[in-house]
Amino acid sequence: MQQIYLDSNSTTPVLPAVLEAMRPFLENQYGNPASAHWAGRRARQALEDARERVAACLGAYPDEVIFTSGATEANNLAILGLLGHSPSHIVTSPIEHPSVAEPIRQLTKRGYAVSEVPVDAQGRISPDDVQRAVRSQSRLASVMLANNEIGTIQPIKQIADRIPEGVAFHCDAAQAVGRIHVHFHDLGVTALTLSGHKFHGPKGAGALLLRRNTPFAAAFHGGHQQQGRRPGTEPVALIVGLATALDLADRERENRLEKVLGLRTRFLSRLCERAAPVVLNGPEHAGMPHTLNVSFPGCRSDSLLMNLDLAGIACSTGSACSSGSLLPSPVLKVMAVPPEVLHSAMRFSFHPFQAEAEIEEAADRIAGVVARLRKMRDNGSA
Ligand code: PMP
Repeated sequence: MQQIYLDSNSTTPVLPAVLEAMRPFLENQYGNPASAHWAGRRARQALEDARERVAACLGAYPDEVIFTSGATEANNLAILGLLGHSPSHIVTSPIEHPSVAEPIRQLTKRGYAVSEVPVDAQGRISPDDVQRAVRSQSRLASVMLANNEIGTIQPIKQIADRIPEGVAFHCDAAQAVGRIHVHFHDLGVTALTLSGHKFHGPKGAGALLLRRNTPFAAAFHGGHQQQGRRPGTEPVALIVGLATALDLADRERENRLEKVLGLRTRFLSRLCERAAPVVLNGPEHAGMPHTLNVSFPGCRSDSLLMNLDLAGIACSTGSACSSGSLLPSPVLKVMAVPPEVLHSAMRFSFHPFQAEAEIEEAADRIAGVVARLRKMRDNGSA
């Protein structure tokens, strides 16, 4: 049985061109970029070249790029590094990824106050609500660009326009960078998070973009790398992989978007034909085409996940990228969807290098599993 991967919001396969670009730095170009000799110089050249490429793709200056191990680290660094030490106020949304929500929750134990702005039925937050939530003690706002569970794209620029000076604005763009157009300076944010493995780069490399001259407290100490803002020997091969993947994504963006949109449209219409009733969660059009969150009333997400795995299909219940998690999605919970929809929701996510035939085969297998589970429920055995 052919295995079909529909979990690209969790991670994506590394492209062969990315692997090839990384290879020399895993084989013979092994120098430490901090070393003063020829081996170090070569590594440093590759590192700084990667930094320039990342900056150019995202509308930033090279010295605004801080490489990290991924988005979880970048989000934590941003939140802890942009806040001052005396407790203040943070504005955020209730549908942030746990790598934003959890550090903020930890800060509440240390006396920081938090306001969460509401989301509408499509998971969208309103810039006016953010403006209303800001207080004189506010020091930080953090709102994601694209949601990992339902694909909603937030109006980040309009939010940035309503955030007063003196309040840092961080944006977790892990699900957007390398997929849709993202321009750091045009978005008007102070800091922006990205992660290479979401766009066919290697796991273990991400970045925090941080506006020049922004006061920032480093979380780690003991090295001068990256201006001391994130010390530690840089993983040159992973960073070269990240930059190559981003470069490719940037050049091929329109084609890739068109391909993924086609896959999503085909998949959804086939599911609606063969597995009705199907409920779409999140935006139908204006969201990320990579993400499709649907409910199958009459089934339960946990048994769907297990039965689809047995049928060779990798997908997720949508809870925080933990494909193995069987808890109902916290994002759908705050969107107040009916219990039947909440408990039968599944997240399918796509990448542009999969074949249409594969997507159709997946929809057919899903329809078969859904029909079987509904029948078991009708017979009282599920
Ligand atoms: N933020 C969002 C929106 C995500 O989807 C993810 C990945 N699940 C992360 C942060 C964490 O990314 P990483 O795996 O690079 O730590």
